[in-house]
Amino acid sequence: MSVLSPTRYVARVELIDLDALWASGKRAILLDRDNTLVPRDRTCAPASVAAWLDHARDLGFELIMVSNNWHKSHVSRSAGELKMDYISFACKPLPFAITAGMRRLGASKANAVMIGDQLYTDVWGGNLAGIDTILVKPQTTVDLWYTQIFRIFERRALRGLTCEE
Ligand SMILES: [Mg+2]
Repeated sequence: MSVLSPTRYVARVELIDLDALWASGKRAILLDRDNTLVPRDRTCAPASVAAWLDHARDLGFELIMVSNNWHKSHVSRSAGELKMDYISFACKPLPFAITAGMRRLGASKANAVMIGDQLYTDVWGGNLAGIDTILVKPQTTVDLWYTQIFRIFERRALRGLTCEE
């Protein structure tokens, strides 16, 4: 189990069974923004993602957006639309913003999970913070230029890992 191994790999957030996650003891969900909740080529999350987040809140999950995006206005607008707190310019894979997010939610390492679409930011950061991680496939193929470079290594690292569809 390396720092680049996600606990689970699921095709998209909406496919993560929240009732099962709650039953497993998780109470706090830290969420990446770009290409996890909000497609890189859009400004709003799809309705299916908003509905999934509503269900999470109904179950009692605490939610926070932890985004590397340095456009604070983009992150705050999405977080507002999706009714959750946020941390922008998070500098994942450094774990500090993730642990700060956990503190804000009153979460423990055992009951928190980080969900995101990038191995080298979200999964690595979550593992460094000592929490479970769920990798999802990016919502679009649109990425920043340096993310596209990381995607090449990511594809290699993910070889042999089964994705839950
Ligand atoms: Mg992302």
